[in-house]
Amino acid sequence: MSTFSELNLDDRILEALASEGYREPTPVQAATIPALLDGRDVLGVAQTGTGKTAAFALPLLHQLAATKVDKPRPIRALMLTPTRELAAQIGDRLRVYGRHLPLFSTVIFGGVGQSAQVKALRRGVDLLVATPGRLLDLHDQGFVDLSRVEHFVLDEADRMLDMGFSNDVDRIQDLMPARRQNLLF
Ligand code: AMP
Repeated sequence: MSTFSELNLDDRILEALASEGYREPTPVQAATIPALLDGRDVLGVAQTGTGKTAAFALPLLHQLAATKVDKPRPIRALMLTPTRELAAQIGDRLRVYGRHLPLFSTVIFGGVGQSAQVKALRRGVDLLVATPGRLLDLHDQGFVDLSRVEHFVLDEADRMLDMGFSNDVDRIQDLMPARRQNLLF
């Protein structure tokens, strides 16, 4: 596999990749994107800096753009990550890769006021990037509905467990439909 167009990604995503100057998929992207587009669960083992974020972000954006949903738009993809820095980075990448798509995403994490995050959630997002504690907090206040999630990404799963998030992750899994695509990195 040598080019992104051979991966059959949406043209609008290819256009965004071209303006970023990405010429070809990295090995982790070439290995995971076809499986994810096929709807399969994927366990990806890759270091930061290898193009891991695009490996899950591109197929998610592609799949969400391919189906139409009624308003208010439900959260259809949840990406869980251990730190606010990682969450913000993923959020930035989603905006870049998805800039020609009619999809909305937002990022929620702790340590800052919640009002801007609540406002974004109220407007409706297709993709949500979150750290576990703030996600559960906002869920328990009634601001987050995970009952329509179709794709779940657990990013830096090893670090998540090291940081003691395993109970939170279990609780979050119980809030989503059992039938969904799972991506573990
Ligand atoms: P990541 O491992 O996802 O944090 O990505 C590391 C860096 O590589 C980021 O700055 C990406 O923008 C960049 N990147 C990801 N995929 C590609 C690609 N296929 N070609 C060139 N750069 C890429």
